[in-house]
Amino acid sequence: MVLLHVGIDDTDSKEGMCTTYVGAVAIRRLKEMGFKIKGYPKLIRLNPNWKMKTRGNCAVAFTLSVKKEQIPRVKETVLKTVAELAELHVDTTNPGVVFYQGSQIPVEMKDFSKKVVQDIVTIEEAEDLARRIGAEIHKFKLGRGIIGALAAIGNTLEGDWTYEFIAYRTPENRGTPRRIDRASVEEMDKKTYPRTFDNLDPSTGEIRITPHTPCPVLYGIRGETARVVKMASRMVRAMEPIEQTIVYKTNQGTDEHLRKVKIDEAKPNWSVIVEGVVSKPPRTIPGGHVIFSLRDETGEIDCAAYEPTRQFREKIKKLIVGDRLRVCGGIKEKPELPLTINLEKVEVLELAPLLKRENPRCPSCGRRMKSEGKNKGYSCKVCKERAPADSARVVTLVRDISLGKFEVPPRARRHLAKPLVRELGEDI
Ligand code: ATP
Repeated sequence: MVLLHVGIDDTDSKEGMCTTYVGAVAIRRLKEMGFKIKGYPKLIRLNPNWKMKTRGNCAVAFTLSVKKEQIPRVKETVLKTVAELAELHVDTTNPGVVFYQGSQIPVEMKDFSKKVVQDIVTIEEAEDLARRIGAEIHKFKLGRGIIGALAAIGNTLEGDWTYEFIAYRTPENRGTPRRIDRASVEEMDKKTYPRTFDNLDPSTGEIRITPHTPCPVLYGIRGETARVVKMASRMVRAMEPIEQTIVYKTNQGTDEHLRKVKIDEAKPNWSVIVEGVVSKPPRTIPGGHVIFSLRDETGEIDCAAYEPTRQFREKIKKLIVGDRLRVCGGIKEKPELPLTINLEKVEVLELAPLLKRENPRCPSCGRRMKSEGKNKGYSCKVCKERAPADSARVVTLVRDISLGKFEVPPRARRHLAKPLVRELGEDI
């Protein structure tokens, strides 16, 4: 028996399909033929800042334990499934399939995978890697999908991982509003959160397990173990037929996209963790986005809380110059704008004192005295009392924000971003 790893990517378009579905159908067909999948199939999210992604930049991979002579049948089934289901008529859909035979995933392939999650690679780099490690690539049209397909095989989910249970719709329902019982989702969340997460957006009450795209997914439940997401799925009442289901092991909710950098090292297309001090106060720009600047010993960078992050912006507005922060977020490639971190999470490490100058009180009536002009002292207009210029006091006001971490709401969260509840438990 040998281990055969299969990777698939770039099968969908904005009009429909989803690579997780193509993977699920290929797996179902292989199982029906008697093949066994080793462990859970993987759903790997790639660089969230990559401009050529269709939606969530995901690729899938799975592993089979097969006899050598069975390999051609497996390959044929996978390739036929991709050719049949991929949105090949859409220009931007350029599927790629990769087969890799071996009991170990080479370090080079793991490194490549990390680069695809954290940075940008070219099709040529993917082809070179495949040649060096002996992976078999299949390109449909431009075949850009070989990048994600190699990355999905190469990501062995060693540090941290989560699971997602996905239920798919029958073809006649795709593109129509999704029908699931809202109360059952709320009940499921009550019973399984935080072992499952991002089922609902607490700020809006919005159900987050159903996507808003015309893809075949009815709903997806994310959680810590395969067991809990399966259990949670049994609590959700679907009011339309389910074609099939699958559980993927995934890098969603792990922060795998983030790298710690100094400000002058930050680059477009990266997602970064940066520590610094607020150097320009938060300001609201047209569209309701809130921007402030952060400085470290190497430079200054803008940080943005965009409109869809809603109440997260209200906390950001409470920051003042001098606050020390650790921020996480992605940097889009926008040559026309200064480098900007699109905030996902913020940790307040130190709060700067918020100072206010207070005029002296009138010794007769107790009211605050008015300034007579710069360095001219103070007077009470009612009692005609006077006080010298140095009688004003500087007081420290209580800050309306505390030390600790806060994050964007589920509706604005990147698939890869680790929800705070995964870091801190329920007490946040
Ligand atoms: P779906 O979520 O349904 O899979 P998607 O949002 O993943 O859609 P794709 O249609 O797969 O988007 O398109 C992304 C394309 O970009 C794929 O061909 C993938 O191989 C490639 N790609 C992904 N990440 C990178 C990266 N970091 N550098 C270069 N190419 C990438």
